[in-house]
Amino acid sequence: MARYSYSKLETYATCPLQYKYRYIDRVRMDLGPTIESFLGSRVHDTLEWLYRLVNNGTLPTLSEVRERYHFLWEAEWTDDVRVIRPEVTPEGLRRVGERCLELYYNRHAPFDEGIVLGLEDPFAIRLDDDVVLNGYLDRLTRQDGDVYEVHDYKTSARLPTPEEAEQDQQAGWYALAVRERFRHASEIRLVWHYLRFDERLVTTRSPEQTERLKEDIRRRIKEVELARSFPPQESALCDWCEYFTICPAKGHRLAVESIPDNTYLGEPGVALVNRLAALKDELKEFTQRKEREIAQVEEALHEYAHQHGYSVVVGSDMEAVVEDQEKVQFPKADHPDRTELEESVRAAGLWDELSNLDLAKLRRALADGRLPDRLRAEVERLGTQQTKPHIRLRKRRT
Ligand code: SF4
Repeated sequence: MARYSYSKLETYATCPLQYKYRYIDRVRMDLGPTIESFLGSRVHDTLEWLYRLVNNGTLPTLSEVRERYHFLWEAEWTDDVRVIRPEVTPEGLRRVGERCLELYYNRHAPFDEGIVLGLEDPFAIRLDDDVVLNGYLDRLTRQDGDVYEVHDYKTSARLPTPEEAEQDQQAGWYALAVRERFRHASEIRLVWHYLRFDERLVTTRSPEQTERLKEDIRRRIKEVELARSFPPQESALCDWCEYFTICPAKGHRLAVESIPDNTYLGEPGVALVNRLAALKDELKEFTQRKEREIAQVEEALHEYAHQHGYSVVVGSDMEAVVEDQEKVQFPKADHPDRTELEESVRAAGLWDELSNLDLAKLRRALADGRLPDRLRAEVERLGTQQTKPHIRLRKRRT
């Protein structure tokens, strides 16, 4: 039985290589959590403790909540907690967590909105015979009229827009979990608490939306299961990735960081990249110069042929045929009229005759697992797998 969580599929979407390290090779790095996830966990733990007390008839004071938070922070702290950004300090983030809890307490005390049905509640949805979706709900409550609410706490430093909240896939997963369990629900609300901002973003998902989400999850799972290569996908999130030190996209960056400035340029990798970049620059400049020269000579030749009324001008070994060609220009692929042009060709029944198979797109569809099974088998039979060295230069990332 295959098991997928929201974060597992998100990992694949963010970086296939990170997915491979974590879920296929199960590489365990000897690293602590990042300070941001440590903060999030302590705030979640404190709120879970608070709601468990309230459920048992005790309302803790704000200072007891603060005390619990600091107790948990110290009890769980280890020196391998990773601080990635230079402007962030553990003490600073510790105060942020305290402030989040104060804001939440002042807004929600005495915490009696609805009946709490679950805290850190695990769910498992059988998507298909052989696929189960897993996750946790921070807090699940029922309001009057069979309205169910999933509450999720966020300590992130960015407040999403309402449109982003509407599109949030994680919220969709939670709605799916609640709808599967409480089929009589009249409404399911996803309440995201952005604690730093004392803001709530509330969205809903219709039964149709959750059905569409199921289809999307199936598509994503298929893509993951058919994947044969897991390339690194660099992004701003790499700094938080636990596999940074073993990632092939980062290995050389780490190696050169430890080289003193005075010997840096002699390092073979650095020297080779610098030489390659210089050669590509020279080639570009040479090509541009020659293209300008060719345009000038062609213009002169055209002029000469016209002046003398020649249509062929003879050289030592070659001769030039000089003619005025009429050529229709069609709208390019990104032009709004292009669709109309393609539709007209299709309508005339000439598409097969006039169009070409786009092999780059076919390769991408195969890699992304978007081809139907039969076509995939055929395409794999007719294609040959080759490994060719390929080097792409880009601006260096810091
Ligand atoms: S460091 Fe970046 S590219 Fe490398 S595995 Fe991690 S997320 Fe992917």
